[in-house]
Amino acid sequence: MSLSFNVSVELKYGLKSLSFIKKVFWYNLLNYLIKTLGCQVNVCDSDKLDSAFSACGACKVDSLLDADVFVLNTCSVRMQSEQKTFSYLGRVEELKQQNLDMKVVVMGCVAERLGYDIKKRFKSVDLVIGTKDVDDSISKIMDLCYLKVSLKKIIPNVSPRSQIVSHITIMKGCNNYCSYCIVPFVRGVEKSFDYNTVINECSLVVKNGAREIILLGQNVSSYKHRNVDFSLLLKSVALIKNLKRIRFTTNHPKDLNDDLINVIATNPKTCPHVHLPMQSASNKILQSMNRRYTYEYYLALIEKLRVAVPDIEITTDIIVGFPGETDEDFECTLSAVKAIRFSGLYVFKYSPRPNTRAFEMSDNVSTIEKKRRHAIILKESNKISAEIALKMVGSNCQVLVEKIWNNFMEARTRNGRKVFLKINKEYFGKIINVVIKEAKVNSLFGDVIG
Ligand code: SF4
Repeated sequence: MSLSFNVSVELKYGLKSLSFIKKVFWYNLLNYLIKTLGCQVNVCDSDKLDSAFSACGACKVDSLLDADVFVLNTCSVRMQSEQKTFSYLGRVEELKQQNLDMKVVVMGCVAERLGYDIKKRFKSVDLVIGTKDVDDSISKIMDLCYLKVSLKKIIPNVSPRSQIVSHITIMKGCNNYCSYCIVPFVRGVEKSFDYNTVINECSLVVKNGAREIILLGQNVSSYKHRNVDFSLLLKSVALIKNLKRIRFTTNHPKDLNDDLINVIATNPKTCPHVHLPMQSASNKILQSMNRRYTYEYYLALIEKLRVAVPDIEITTDIIVGFPGETDEDFECTLSAVKAIRFSGLYVFKYSPRPNTRAFEMSDNVSTIEKKRRHAIILKESNKISAEIALKMVGSNCQVLVEKIWNNFMEARTRNGRKVFLKINKEYFGKIINVVIKEAKVNSLFGDVIG
């Protein structure tokens, strides 16, 4: 290390960053760690950031102790997720005492919501960036780390965890303003991405080995770019050579129309799995949630989907303990869960989020009661899911082998169920026939046939 190097770096960047810069410029060595909280959209943004770091030759590490840069991609959809952010940052604050050079970045929804307040509260944080433009966020992080990368050269959204399944974000934000949801306030109004860009990104990931694409957005069924709606987009993506499967998530029941049902029913690459958040089956609560449909409408939609696509698996989201939810309202939801028999569901205990309309309502269901309702729905859902899985034992199905672990393979059926198989690396990324031998609530075990 020459004296002139030290002096010029000090002049350009200041003394504080000197040893960090030495690592980047002199030793060409930078360790990074990205921790992602929250939804698939965050996972997708983190994957892109991950690709940017690796394109610069930086090295991914598993421990904060080894990291020169730590990026926390945050979620604020529930109070609990926001608290997770603060507890992480508390730990980072302590660690930074031992590693003063570590750069700390907070991105995602909490960063968007609280902005500069995070920096005021946690002195260890160097950069806080919101959710508006992921490419711009990545550029700012690269600048902070003195790294140069052409975002055009980064293969978009190829998950370093599995190159076989790739997530492509097709839109951002949401216009629905469900009364409990913070998303429109932290992710902004709905904006569908350019159709050609989406198709190019999909083609690129398939060229790089992806065999399944999951199209992502807060409400993909309302995608609209010029005269291309979501059904047309799906059909266009399906034309990509070597792509075997397409999934999409998530949907708002009011936007899932007949054209889309027809594509799911007739396009062989579109997988028969729809995640369709119900949230509640009480019309009073649905109205108070501003969901813009009734339970009867939702039920009719499910029936329509099941008639058009007999092997479809439908999963859902449910919130228990929303303000004003009485025992009777809850019983409606429980009865609906029993009647509809979802393949799986996510159940959440309501928590008030600032800025939302529900924040002004009295959060009058006690924590204990929320927990009780949560446990009842979960138990019923697990029971149904296990029964559906058990019926699959002895059946043959096609799976895509997505991951290879130490001594087994992880594959997925067309309708989204995980199947574990004995390892044979030749099958990685291929669609194979299996017979299901054993079933558990969330996974199946099978043998390869043919
Ligand atoms: S549809 Fe409702 S719940 Fe979903 S992101 Fe938009 S506002 Fe939130």
